[in-house]
Amino acid sequence: MIIDCAYDEKLSDELVKYLTENGFQVIKDPDGIIRSKDVALTKDDLDLFLKKTGKIKELQVIPSEKNVLIIATKIPIEGFGFVRCSICGFVMYEEELMVHERAHGIFLA
Ligand SMILES: [Zn+2]
Repeated sequence: MIIDCAYDEKLSDELVKYLTENGFQVIKDPDGIIRSKDVALTKDDLDLFLKKTGKIKELQVIPSEKNVLIIATKIPIEGFGFVRCSICGFVMYEEELMVHERAHGIFLA
């Protein structure tokens, strides 16, 4: 498996340390690339790393080509025609927002 930290050396150092401490066999390459022939290593382990370190807020694991996982910055939802309700934080299409927020108004009245 190849884990691509997208040139983020700091992240890849941290991930190598984490995986090694958890008993996985990994090799660090330049440019934020981590290689592993360890069959026990899965996407779940990377998700767990992101959760444990709190990076899950900014980063996500994206499966790419066969055996390649990319750890990249999350794409903000707002850029894709989605908006977040300022009252409850619910994510929906932009055109639904007015009706949704109005529903809050009625509910709160
Ligand atoms: Zn709402």
